[in-house]
Amino acid sequence: MKSSSLSPSVEDYLKAVYSLNEGGGPASTNELARLLAVQPGSVSGMIRRMAEDGLLRHEPYRGVRLTEEGSREALKILRRHRIIESFLVQRLGYDWDDVHAEAERLEHAASERLIEAMADALGHPATDPHGAPIPTRAGRIDPTPTNRLDEVKPGSTVTVRSVADEDPVRLRYLKSVGLVPGAKAAVWKGGGEEGALTVTVEGGAGPLRIERNVASRVTVSTDP
Ligand SMILES: [Zn+2]
Repeated sequence: MKSSSLSPSVEDYLKAVYSLNEGGGPASTNELARLLAVQPGSVSGMIRRMAEDGLLRHEPYRGVRLTEEGSREALKILRRHRIIESFLVQRLGYDWDDVHAEAERLEHAASERLIEAMADALGHPATDPHGAPIPTRAGRIDPTPTNRLDEVKPGSTVTVRSVADEDPVRLRYLKSVGLVPGAKAAVWKGGGEEGALTVTVEGGAGPLRIERNVASRVTVSTDP
């Protein structure tokens, strides 16, 4: 199947399944419905068609996983999305909190020629403005494992790798406290299941209280 024959909604499903599979398990119908903001009933029909097209396969009672072909297509869309965001920030002066919605639209329309011209113009960046790795043209993506900030043990020093990019308010907040890709931070308190984290950002103002739902959308590597 050629990527040009995939509809925008199939492309959105591929991205959603890819991100849920990244957590290690299959993507359930309910998780997909929540992520795509659609009814579970419409998810079932779509995943049946995508399974028939060889893009994903069912694990009975658990959910779906992308096939190799499905992964390849998902990585192409992620490449388009992340290069568009990089171009908007680096070349057109957009802020990092202002590019995701634009990229969500353009990723379905941009030709491979345009994406590769943008990548050339940018010097083939390894990550997008939010720190997410950009898959290569050959479909490879940086496999370096990361942790969620809310799962780090108190007493750890971490480097921020990436931040989830879909919420502009959260992105503005994270920038205002210096929790941006490359920033180093010390985690003092992890709180309980419900609790907030206490974090100090290198070069930033005093200890910060970071809500757990915000910390869960920040990925970090733990420094030795
Ligand atoms: Zn985005």
